[in-house]
Amino acid sequence: MPTEPMTGWPTVAFVGLGHMGQPMARRLLGSGVPVRGFDVAAAARDAWAAAGGTAFGSAADAAAGADVVILMLPDSGVVEAVIDSGGFLDAVRPGATVVDMSSSEPERTRTLAERLAARQIRLVDAPVSGGVARAETGELAIMVGGSDADVAPVLGLLELMGRAFRAGPVGAGHAVKALNNLMSATHLLITAEAMLAGERFGIDAEAMLAIVNASSGRSGSTQNKWPNFVLPGTFDSGFALRLMLKDMRIAAGLAASLQSPCGLGERAVQVWAKAAAELSPTADHTEIARWLREAATRTTEIGT
Ligand code: NAD
Repeated sequence: MPTEPMTGWPTVAFVGLGHMGQPMARRLLGSGVPVRGFDVAAAARDAWAAAGGTAFGSAADAAAGADVVILMLPDSGVVEAVIDSGGFLDAVRPGATVVDMSSSEPERTRTLAERLAARQIRLVDAPVSGGVARAETGELAIMVGGSDADVAPVLGLLELMGRAFRAGPVGAGHAVKALNNLMSATHLLITAEAMLAGERFGIDAEAMLAIVNASSGRSGSTQNKWPNFVLPGTFDSGFALRLMLKDMRIAAGLAASLQSPCGLGERAVQVWAKAAAELSPTADHTEIARWLREAATRTTEIGT
């Protein structure tokens, strides 16, 4: 059994070493934090080991003896599957903190917090924004839900990966994250529509972007996604379209459960769902722009 060196940091188990988890766990490792890594994919474990990390054979093995268990998994379903996987809950020691940094469903997070509390395990939700690029530089925006007593001991760790913002009680981070992505996805879609209309009017795409980025229509889509992933035609932001659609559905569902109006958001969900059905399951979310352009050559009415 590998042992961790003595440091001033808590021992961290990091479960989910994918596009985001891998660079986030590497930030911790590079800061001297003892990190016990696990991912169900052998390729991810190999990449982690190649980066100097210690890879374990199961989530339970990674969690054994850890003070903090960080989850960076696709969604609530996978988070719950890991929590309920063989021996996991018995391996997490009472008093330890599980930090779910995945973009999960706020209501399921609250339910999970109650389950874990019955075993004296704390739950903090801390989803992130900023993508792979900001995961690599440790400049993520981290949206933290949980009680002050539960959050305080893990804030130092979170600050190694980005800037932590308190959102409210447990589940609030996950709510803000989903709502943020509904806004982001809707910006990206309206940018695709507006850029296409501009192109059809004969306007150069770079000229239009430069104008919009000095004007009131700018957003993360026009300032980052369009110049870096759409115009160059690389569509390689590292954030899957199916994960964006998952977040949009969480946000629209949350609004519906609160009787909060979400007509534009629901319309955006419909269009993104159509794109997801027509694109590869591994498509990057920035491919919504390419899809919209191609769909527009087949029909003038998009998304119906
Ligand atoms: P990803 O699919 O690249 O990584 C998820 C990892 O979880 C994979 O390596 C997969 O093998 C692993 N996994 C799946 N089931 C598992 C299990 N049962 N046990 C252990 N490991 C398991 O996804 P990602 O892009 O890293 O995103 C992770 C989370 O962060 C998602 O909730 C996503 O919505 C969110 N997010 C992603 C980005 C981004 O830019 N990629 C940005 C912000 C938030």
